[in-house]
Amino acid sequence: MATSENFDQITRLAAFCFNVPSALILMVDLDQCWFCSSLGIAPVDAAAAEALCRDTIRRGGLIEIPDLAALADDAATSAADDAVGNARVLLPPGVDTRRLGFYAGIALVDDTGRTVGALSILDTRPRTLRDADREQLTALGRLAMTEIALRQSDGRRDAMTGLPNERQLVADLHDAALLARGEYRLLVFVDTFDVASARALTQTLGSGPIDALMVQMAERLKEHLEGLSDVYRVAETRFGFVTDCRETDDPEPFIAELSQFIGRTALAAGIPIRPAIRAGLVKLRLREEGVTEALRQAEAAVDASVASNRTWTAYDAEKDAVSQRSYTLATGLERALANNEFYLVYQPRLNMRTGRIASVEALVRWKHSVLGTLFPGEFIPIVERTALMQALTHWVANASLAQLAIWQRAFPELHLSINLSSRDFETGELTGALTQACERHRIAPGMLEVEVKEGDWVRGDAVFEQLTAIRAAGILVAIDDFGSGFSNSGFLRDVPADVLKIDPSLILDLADNERHQTIVRSILDLGRELGYRTVAEGVESEATLALLREWQCEEAQGYLIARPVGANAIGELLHKFAGTA
Ligand code: C2E
Ligand code: CA
Ligand code: CA
Repeated sequence: MATSENFDQITRLAAFCFNVPSALILMVDLDQCWFCSSLGIAPVDAAAAEALCRDTIRRGGLIEIPDLAALADDAATSAADDAVGNARVLLPPGVDTRRLGFYAGIALVDDTGRTVGALSILDTRPRTLRDADREQLTALGRLAMTEIALRQSDGRRDAMTGLPNERQLVADLHDAALLARGEYRLLVFVDTFDVASARALTQTLGSGPIDALMVQMAERLKEHLEGLSDVYRVAETRFGFVTDCRETDDPEPFIAELSQFIGRTALAAGIPIRPAIRAGLVKLRLREEGVTEALRQAEAAVDASVASNRTWTAYDAEKDAVSQRSYTLATGLERALANNEFYLVYQPRLNMRTGRIASVEALVRWKHSVLGTLFPGEFIPIVERTALMQALTHWVANASLAQLAIWQRAFPELHLSINLSSRDFETGELTGALTQACERHRIAPGMLEVEVKEGDWVRGDAVFEQLTAIRAAGILVAIDDFGSGFSNSGFLRDVPADVLKIDPSLILDLADNERHQTIVRSILDLGRELGYRTVAEGVESEATLALLREWQCEEAQGYLIARPVGANAIGELLHKFAGTA
C-alpha cells in the first residue's frame, strides 16, 4: 500500500502535538507489515522503529517506553523483562534502540476487535507522558483507525457522513437477492437539497454549510429508520435505503412521515437551511440481475419528483420509457448532425388570389438509425435543451436555401420560410448567420422568411431588437401559430413582423365552428389593419378554403393543398399550382 496523504497528515499532527521529531503508522496484515506513514525516521533506525511498533501490536493498548537506552542496556544483559513496569518488551536480536530516546505507541483495533496496526511517536530523549498526553495519543489512534476503516471498506463508504455509499448498496442488494430472491422490497432514494442551490450556496459560503447539512440529514435518516433499514449516501445530496414491503403496501403514510421528520429546518454550520425532500420509490422483486436496473429506476423516480416538485414519485415504467427515449435522442444529436441524419421536407403555401404556390415551409425530419423517421414535435424540444439548437437551425437554413436556389431557376418568385427556436436568439449571431447563408446561396434576403412562434420569450427587448435587425437585413418575419392560446392584439401591434400565420387549432374545424369563425375573422381584420400578410395553416377542407378566400385571407397552407413532401415532389406541385385561382 502506498503512503497516503491522509495518514501523513495524522503523523504530522502527532509529531506536532507531542513535539517529537518522528511519528509512524505501521500496518499489519497476515504475515506482512508496512509503514503507511513514517515521519522523521532515519533509515538506520527503521528496523528498531518497526520492532517497537510490532511489539505494540502484539501487546495491544497503549505502550510507553520512557527510556529506550535503558531498555537497550537491559536487552544487552538479556533482562528486557519489565523495563517499563509490567510488560515484557520483545525485540528481535540485533535490533538496537539505543539511538532512540523515547517510544510510545497505541495499537489500532478495528470494529471486530482485530489489531490492524499501530500509531507510534518517537523522541531522541527520554520522557514521560502525562494523562492528557495518553488521551491525546488514544484520540489520534482513533483517527488513524477511521482512516484505515475507510480504506478497508474498499471505497464503499462516504467519508463525509460515514454512511455506506451506492457501491455498498449494490452489494447489499445483491446479497439480499441471493438470500431472499422473489421477495418484495421498497427501494427509496431521497434527495434532500436541490443540487444547483447547493452548488450556489457552496460558491458563496464554502462547502461547510452543505457538508454540515448532509451530516445532519444522514443522522436524521438513521434515527428515523433505526431498526428498519440501513441508510446509504448515493449522491451529493441524495440518500437511499431499502425496507421490507408487501406487494400491496401503500407507501404514502410512511414517506409523508419520513419527509416531515427529516425536512425540518436544520442549523448547518450556523446557517438555517430548509431541506427540500424529494423521494423516488421503486417496489422491486429481488433478483440478482435486477439490482442495477432497480437503482436506475430509483434515480429516475427521484428525478421525476425533483422535476415536478412533488414530495415523492413511484417509479413509472411508461414515463421512464419516454424519458429514456429522450435521453437516447439527446445523446445521438451530435452524431446525427455530423452523419447527415436530418433531412428536410417542404410544405407549400397557396396564394389564394393568384392560385400559385407563393412559398414553401421547410420542416425538418430525423432519420434515426435505430428508431426510424422522427418528427420535430418529438425531437425539437430535446434539441432545444441542448447546445445544438443553433447548429441545427444553421443547417436547416443552409440546406433549404441551397434547395431554393435550384427551384428559383424555374420559379424565381418562390419564397422559403424556415422555423426558428427561442434558443436561436440567445447569442446575437442569428441575423449574421441568416444573411451569410443568403449570400452563400445567392438568394435575395426578401425571398427568405423566418417563423417565430409567439410566446413570452418573444416579448423581451433582446428578441425584438434581433427581429428588427433581421427585417432591416431584408428578411421577412412571420408570427407562427397565432391564436393558439395566449395571443393578444397588443402583441401584434408591438412585434416587428410581416406575416401572420393563424394557428391550425382555429382553422382545422373552421367550417363547422362558429366561435372559431368569429375569432378568425377578427384576427384577419386586425392583421389587415396592422399591415400583415395573413396565412391560414391547417386547411384540410374545401369549405374552409372557401371561407378563408371570402374573408380575404391571403395564403393557405394545409393537407388540402399538399402535405409536407420531399424536395423532388415540390417541383411537380409548383407546376400544378402555377395558374390563376
Ligand atoms: P409548425 O411550424 O407550425 O409546422 C406546421 C406543422 O403542421 C407541421 O408539422 C405540418 O406537417 C403540420 N401540418 C401542416 N398542414 C397541416 C394540416 O392541414 N393538418 C394538420 N393536422 N397538420 C398540418 P411538423 O412538420 O411535424 O412540424 C411540427 C413543428 O415542428 C413545426 O410546427 C415547428 O414548430 C417545428 N419544426 C419543424 N421544423 C423545424 C425546424 O427546422 N426548426 C425549428 N426550430 N422547428 C421546426
Ligand atoms: Ca412554422
Ligand atoms: Ca404553425
